[in-house]
Amino acid sequence: MKSEKKSSTSADPLPFHLFSDESYMRAALRLAERAAAEGEVPVGAVAVKDGIVIAKAWNQVEMLKDATAHAEILVLTAASNAIGDWRMDGVTVFVTKEPCAMCAGAMVNARVERVVYGLADPRSGACGSALDVTGFKGMLHNVAVKGGVLEEECRALMQDFFRRARERGAKTAKQGKENPSCARRREG
Ligand SMILES: [Zn+2]
Repeated sequence: MKSEKKSSTSADPLPFHLFSDESYMRAALRLAERAAAEGEVPVGAVAVKDGIVIAKAWNQVEMLKDATAHAEILVLTAASNAIGDWRMDGVTVFVTKEPCAMCAGAMVNARVERVVYGLADPRSGACGSALDVTGFKGMLHNVAVKGGVLEEECRALMQDFFRRARERGAKTAKQGKENPSCARRREG
């Protein structure tokens, strides 16, 4: 009886959800939370090849004082280091927000196979929302796109971050009114 039970367990297929887009997006969400904790706009990304996470990154624009330090750019650099090549053949990038034109362009240049994003960005998303850099016909390479994976979680994290930022801003402005020298410093 015991061995029967054992064999049936080992014959069970691996839980499929372990390798689903949602599971990798959840890893990207954890990194986005880390960004938020560090005062960065919460965007996280992981690069996956053959089912293995080869690189992780989160937005570090403020910390590095670098406008190009988006999660996607950092994850591409880390993935290049991991595989020892600039070509991202067979690599999927999971990112919590639709990439901007810079990041989508970098993914095209790096020959990323697929990008999966959470929250769409109608204002500046470049994977089909505002622009279609990943699918632009004149490009040497096109990146397959899937959006809306764990979109609600990704949106909630973003909204929460900006709500807190507004509250902090309102508090600082109020303090500034009570202390004009503080307000002047903020203006300068
Ligand atoms: Zn970007």
